[in-house]
Amino acid sequence: MKAVIIGAGMGGLSAAIALKQIGLDVEVYEQVTENKPVGAAISVWSNGVKCLNHLGLEQETADLGGIVDTMSYVDGLTGDTMCRFSMQPLIDEVGQRPYPVARAELQLMLMNAYGIDDIHFGKKMVAVTDGEDAATVEFADGTTDSADLVIGADGAKSLTREYVLGHEVERRYAGYVNFNGLVEVDDAIGPASEWTTYVGEGKRVSAMPIAGNRFYFFFDVPMPEGQSYERGTAREVLTEHFAGWAPGVQRLIEKLDPSTTNRVEILDLDPFHTWVKGRVAVLGDAAHNTTPDIGQGGCSAMEDAVALQFAFTEHPNDVHAALGAYEKARTERAGDLVLRARKRCDVTHAKDPEATAAWYEELRSEDGTRIIRGIVSNIVGGPLT
Ligand code: FAD
Repeated sequence: MKAVIIGAGMGGLSAAIALKQIGLDVEVYEQVTENKPVGAAISVWSNGVKCLNHLGLEQETADLGGIVDTMSYVDGLTGDTMCRFSMQPLIDEVGQRPYPVARAELQLMLMNAYGIDDIHFGKKMVAVTDGEDAATVEFADGTTDSADLVIGADGAKSLTREYVLGHEVERRYAGYVNFNGLVEVDDAIGPASEWTTYVGEGKRVSAMPIAGNRFYFFFDVPMPEGQSYERGTAREVLTEHFAGWAPGVQRLIEKLDPSTTNRVEILDLDPFHTWVKGRVAVLGDAAHNTTPDIGQGGCSAMEDAVALQFAFTEHPNDVHAALGAYEKARTERAGDLVLRARKRCDVTHAKDPEATAAWYEELRSEDGTRIIRGIVSNIVGGPLT
C-alpha cells in the first residue's frame, strides 16, 4: 500500500514515520525548499511525548526537551508570585514528563527519523483528486503522483481540507498577537527549571526551559487584527505594551533578539467532523486548527499520526475502512481540544474582563491542584491515553 503525504510539518512527518513503521510505502511532499519552521518552540505535552516515544524517538525527544520541575504565575505588574507548584503530580498521574522543545530541532529530529533525503522539497501541491483505484496529487511544477491514499498534512491553510469539505472555510481571529523567540536562561526572568508566566491586563508573558540552557518565551498582546508591524521592531513594540510591568518582563524585553522574534496573529477554526473523502484525508492543523492556549495543536497532530497507524494496523488491506476508523477515532477528541483552547484563550486575554479578574484572584489561592487537573484533562483521551 502506498501513501502520499502532503506537508513535512510535525503532523505530516509523524504520520510518515507512523505509516512507514507498519510497512506502507510513503512519499512526503513539501512546498518549502528548506527546514525553516515558523515559531521558536512548542511545549510538547505528555500526550505528544508519548506519541513521539511510540514512533521510536524517546531518547531524541528527551535530549531536546527542557526540564520543567515547577510552574509559577506572577503578577505582571507587581512581580509578586501568585502561585508556584511542582509538576511532579502531573508527571505521576499521566506517566510522562512534558518537554518544551525548539521547533527547528523537533522538525529536524522528525525529518531525520523519516529520512531527510527521502522528502521531496520544493513541491507545492496545487490539486488533489480521488479516483476508484487511486488518489492523485498535482504539483505546481506540473508533475503528479498517485497512491492508495493521500494524507493532507498541509497546515492551517490546507488545500486538502477544501477538497475534503468541498468548500473553503474561514478561520477566526482569536483577538491577540503572539510574539515568540528563544533567549539564554536568566534567573532575573525566571528560575531555570520553571515555567514562569506573568499575567495582567489580559496580557501574558511566559518563559519555559528548552535544552541548551535556553528559554522559549512568548508575549500575548490582545489587539485588533491586521495592525502594521515591521519585522525587527519587537523590542520597541513590547516595551510600549509592557510599560510599567515587572522587572523580569523588562529583562526579557532587553534580552530578546528582535531580528529572530516572531510575531503571529492567532487564529483558529470551528471544529468539523468530515476529515475523509474517499482516499483523501486531512491530518494536523489541516483537520483541527486551534489557538495555542493549551499547547495542544502539535500534540494533537501527533495523536492523529498514531491513530492513523492504528487504523491501518486494524484494516491493513482496506483504505476506506482504515480512513473511516481514523476519522471516527479523532474528530471528537481534536474538536474538543480546539474548543477548550478557545475557552482558555478568552479567559487569559480578557474577553470578559470580570472573568479574567476572577481568574487572577483564583491564581492567588492556587496550590497547583486545579491547574494540574485542567492540564491532565487535556492530556488524556488520545490514542495512547
Ligand atoms: P504545519 O506545521 O503548518 O505544517 C504544514 C506543512 O505543510 C508546512 O511545512 C507547509 O509548508 C506544508 N504545505 C502547506 N501547503 C502545502 C502544499 N500545497 N503543498 C506542499 N506542502 C504544503 N502546539 C503544541 O502542541 N504545543 C505548543 O506549545 C504550541 N504552541 C504554538 C504557538 C504558536 C504561536 C502557534 C501559532 C502554534 C502553536 N502550536 C503548538 C500549534 C502547532 O504549531 C501546530 O499545531 C503544528 O505546527 C501543526 O503541524 P502540522 O504539521 O499540521 O502543520
